[in-house]
Amino acid sequence: MINYFKEIILGLRTLAIGMRITFVRMFHHRVTLDYPHKTVTMTPRFRGHVILKVADAKPKCIVCMACQRACPSGCIKLDGEKREGAARKSLTSYTLNFTTCSLCGLCVESCAFDALEFSKKYNLTSMHKEDYQAIDLLQQAGGGK
Ligand code: SF4
Ligand code: SF4
Repeated sequence: MINYFKEIILGLRTLAIGMRITFVRMFHHRVTLDYPHKTVTMTPRFRGHVILKVADAKPKCIVCMACQRACPSGCIKLDGEKREGAARKSLTSYTLNFTTCSLCGLCVESCAFDALEFSKKYNLTSMHKEDYQAIDLLQQAGGGK
């Protein structure tokens, strides 16, 4: 009988301790976010997958192919065409296989035209690897027209 009341008192005590911690924490600065409604701002040095940089609503890429050649994993596939009257080629496709990208940065470094950069995208999730085997960077950059 005594043990019965001891257990009740112990239970009430631990409940009170837990409630006290909860109450005190309610007035502390929050360290979590309402993900996915809110996301953190990544640090300047964070490397998400590469993206094409845009100037005057067009990708800065001039289709020199240096990034495709520099990629040790063969992640980049791009193409371009020279349109009539144009002084230089226009990008017609630029896809990235992010499933084999090691984020080494050789593509960004090899671009002499400052046309590539790392994105701040960190919350890429999928149940299917195919979703990231051919990311259309040209489309993400708003197309190449
Ligand atoms: S190296 Fe730069 S300019 Fe050349 S194809 Fe790649 S992104 Fe375009
Ligand atoms: S970061 Fe490295 S592995 Fe990824 S696409 Fe660029 S060169 Fe290829």
